[in-house]
Amino acid sequence: MEHETFTGSCLCGAVRFELNAPPSELLRCHCRMCQKAHGAEFATFARFAHDDWRIIAGEDDIAEYRSSSAARRTFCRQCGSALQFIRDGKETFGLALSALDTPLPSMPLHDYHAGSACEPYSGELWFPGVTGAGVR
Ligand SMILES: [Zn+2]
Ligand SMILES: [Zn+2]
Repeated sequence: MEHETFTGSCLCGAVRFELNAPPSELLRCHCRMCQKAHGAEFATFARFAHDDWRIIAGEDDIAEYRSSSAARRTFCRQCGSALQFIRDGKETFGLALSALDTPLPSMPLHDYHAGSACEPYSGELWFPGVTGAGVR
């Protein structure tokens, strides 16, 4: 598993990046802020280290919004694709799984703030690379 590279991009392709190590966690956040920011009933993130993130193209196209006093979210200013959830002072960030183009190895998937879920969800997973992951 050493020296794995994962690539990603936004919808329009202006922003492209790579990650030089696998994520440490897969998670879905059902909080209202993630629902609104991602236009979905939950946001799915892969947790990566800031040190492993490298922007290949479109650095100037990355905009950010401070969604709370402790965190900000980045997105492509051209197409609006969600990119990162960054909590201040942490060595890791959440990458919107939708922006990742390399399938991930199967790994456990954790649910956060499931109490604010819009609907009871089925537990089915439709992102490539997470099929078969355990749902807690
Ligand atoms: Zn874009
Ligand atoms: Zn959230």
